[in-house]
Amino acid sequence: MPASDVPASHPRYLSLLTRERIVAGVERGVTSLHGLIAHGRGEAFDYLIGERTHPFATGAIAAAAAALKRARHPVISVNGNACALAAADLMALAEAAGARLEVNIFHSSPARELAIRMMLLEAGARDVLMPSQTHAIQHIDHNRKWVHPEGILIADVVCVPLEDGDRCEALVKNGKTVITIDLNPLSRTARTAQITIVDNLTRCLPLLVQAVRECTSPPESLNAWDNAAALAAAEAAMRGPQAAHSSPPSGQ
Ligand code: ATP
Repeated sequence: MPASDVPASHPRYLSLLTRERIVAGVERGVTSLHGLIAHGRGEAFDYLIGERTHPFATGAIAAAAAALKRARHPVISVNGNACALAAADLMALAEAAGARLEVNIFHSSPARELAIRMMLLEAGARDVLMPSQTHAIQHIDHNRKWVHPEGILIADVVCVPLEDGDRCEALVKNGKTVITIDLNPLSRTARTAQITIVDNLTRCLPLLVQAVRECTSPPESLNAWDNAAALAAAEAAMRGPQAAHSSPPSGQ
């Protein structure tokens, strides 16, 4: 039964709705089949934190908002999963932060890149940068090295939700401040980025948009931000004796 037929009172309503969005993303050529596997991994970690936003995530959201606000040239890198799940929120984040949106996908496919661009434009994005064939970042070999000369190439802060570790590492080595959103506190991405929001993309993006809008002067929170401590707190929440999943996730 499609999630749209499931009553909102169903305990897994939001989770089912989110799955439907990812499947629709595959059907319209935005998300790769591999993206379904990445989504399943995310769901498992989300279950372990009780499918709610924890203080280790709200702290990271504040630090990320300050970094975006302070950036001279912020860019939001968008892949197939992020687009299928949250095109409108990514667009809203770009608007709030004065950032460019740039398409970048793991499994090379010009058709899918164009489908992502189209979906972002339909969601209201004013412009969406595409990877060039002429400009590349260093320290990475595959398709993902290609970037837009007015986007990631010159960016000082890059927000890369649901990223893979190699590219995150390359972005950091290229001198970028990297913000990621990743439910797995053990992933290479989570550990390499300077700011990791361990939360579901669909829950934390509206909070990040709001935090950017409300962040009038970059607070000290950015300088004081301890990513390793936040990751340790996330891992502890997952492993802890009263682990978040011991009571059923509410509202989902
Ligand atoms: P790495 O290379 O960084 O070690 P990986 O190989 O696990 O990570 P991928 O499979 O490319 O990386 O990335 C998917 C990541 O995104 C996973 O860590 C998964 O937990 C996370 N993820 C999936 N869906 C979501 C979501 N909706 N919100 C936040 N994180 C998610």
